[in-house]
Amino acid sequence: MKCVRCGLTIRGDVNEYICDDCTKFSKVVLNIFQDVHNHLENTKSIDPDTNKLLQLLSDSTFVTSKNPQTAIFYKISNYIVSQAFSGRLEISEDELNRNVVTTRSWSDALKIFEELNLIRIRFERYERIIMLTEKSSKFAMQYLSATTLSEIGVRKRLAHIYAGYVLLYILSKVAILSPGLSNRSSLPYNQIPRTQWVTLMFLWMKAYEKNELFGEEEFRKFVSRRRIPSATRGKIINALQAMDGRSTQGMIKNINFDKGERKFTFEDYVLIEMDRIREVVRERER
Ligand SMILES: [Zn+2]
Repeated sequence: MKCVRCGLTIRGDVNEYICDDCTKFSKVVLNIFQDVHNHLENTKSIDPDTNKLLQLLSDSTFVTSKNPQTAIFYKISNYIVSQAFSGRLEISEDELNRNVVTTRSWSDALKIFEELNLIRIRFERYERIIMLTEKSSKFAMQYLSATTLSEIGVRKRLAHIYAGYVLLYILSKVAILSPGLSNRSSLPYNQIPRTQWVTLMFLWMKAYEKNELFGEEEFRKFVSRRRIPSATRGKIINALQAMDGRSTQGMIKNINFDKGERKFTFEDYVLIEMDRIREVVRERER
């Protein structure tokens, strides 16, 4: 039987089930989504320096940005944030076609942005016009007056948070998939972003369960059991080794060799934030 969320196969008498890891991770994903969503709906501040959960999202997009299944969300986010930065509130489909390279159709991807109230869509003649909502402009407004950081650096960070939010929303849809329904129609392109789901399940749950570090070998076993190809795994390990919070990921602060195996140590903020989430989960379960 096969886990409907991560694809882990075990012996059993039904076709579909939900594995223990996915059961735990789903709860965490739904709580994190609820937290981030409330924050972005209700506050004016979108600052990863004061809200560490936003930093975690931003730091987690490295799994996504180069993955063919999810890259489209990352690219659209990047484009929207850059447009919002230059003060624009509308983007035509034609502009999107010229600036965001993808072989996929826009409909499924844009629907996700629309559901999160980041954009609204109207039709004009033969094309869609994407209207940025106040929530999207908020991302840009946040730093418009900042002079200390370079605009490009800021834009990149905000695009990461924006994309991280969109992808977290998709994960929250995966987190409620049930056996037997084979209902993937709630997901864009009817696809589970499995690489992202499985990778973040490993990383976030390690920190959530109070592990300060993890070994490359246990990561390999975890993702291989879920049939993530070794080439994909290699790319993820490479990205984890690029320890630079300003670029793609800043979840790892240190890498050591222990008996020939690489050990990755989490940044302090990851463990602190997961402590907080554990408290939130406990509170909500009361
Ligand atoms: Zn599973």
